[in-house]
Amino acid sequence: MNLNRSCPVCDQLWGASCRELPTYGRDTTHYECDVCGNFQITGTVFASKFHPKICSLTDIQRAAMSHILCTRESKDEPCIIDTTWLSDVLSSSTLPDPITQASSAIRYIGDEVSGTGSAISKPNVQFPALIGAPNYHSFTSLLTDLADQNLIKIGSSVRLHGYTMHYDVDLTLQGWEKYQELQLGRISSGYGFIAMQFSDPILDPFVEEVVKPAVMNGTGYELVHMRDVGRAGIIDNIMRAQIRDAEFVIADLTHDNSGAYWEAGYAEGLGKPVIYICEKDKFDKDKTHFDTSHCTTVVWSASRNCGFEEELIATLRRSLNIPPHT
Ligand SMILES: [Zn+2]
Repeated sequence: MNLNRSCPVCDQLWGASCRELPTYGRDTTHYECDVCGNFQITGTVFASKFHPKICSLTDIQRAAMSHILCTRESKDEPCIIDTTWLSDVLSSSTLPDPITQASSAIRYIGDEVSGTGSAISKPNVQFPALIGAPNYHSFTSLLTDLADQNLIKIGSSVRLHGYTMHYDVDLTLQGWEKYQELQLGRISSGYGFIAMQFSDPILDPFVEEVVKPAVMNGTGYELVHMRDVGRAGIIDNIMRAQIRDAEFVIADLTHDNSGAYWEAGYAEGLGKPVIYICEKDKFDKDKTHFDTSHCTTVVWSASRNCGFEEELIATLRRSLNIPPHT
């Protein structure tokens, strides 16, 4: 028998309906929330973090978890909320900033209207969590701001139980222009993305101590790694968004990592500048995949004696049309 109850993750934030499903003898409880989707919480984590009597989660943490759950890609399988998942999410995940929320709202409205051919008569209960809004009030004021900027149009607004509800939401022509730019990744977010093997004892410190500072000093761009935005696999779709909105991508091919090749290909498909790098011994001995053999590859060495930083910066500045240093 399914039991209707308040969602242990988003609780009262979005007014979502949630069902508790039987899990027959397993030490997890299975939930289906209209906003967070399909997830299970282990007995240990529920007792220590989610039990209503001891719950210490803040509304911001609930909103961040709800955002991650409802935007994950593999929705058929329930997400298992165990100790590792929770500590990863609580330590590394923050809600998107208001600019990113606004872009996501325009994407959402554009997708919905394109799919149905008509304005969104009543916003879906998932809408605020999908864009990463911290609460309902902040969500509705964001929509009001977008309407004030003539990016969206709102048919009517009603105040109900202290909340504003917007109806018949659509994009304006200006909003559709912005939507197209967003879809094509043409909105500059002022950072570069590095695609690489995770947790390599030589590459990790090399990226932190050499590549990131060199890129910042030589171009003014911050270089972002998936680790900086959360653990891959938990927020797999956030990686795509990070690449789509990046100014450029640096792909390290030292380990023949299929993920790094995929991310580079995704970025090339979007028309982003992609710069390949590879450890010198590996490159001299094995080269990289033949599909990248025509691309410029900047080689690096942990001993730092191969002019890597200078060549990387010169390549990046050429790709980004930044004038040479005077
Ligand atoms: Zn929920």
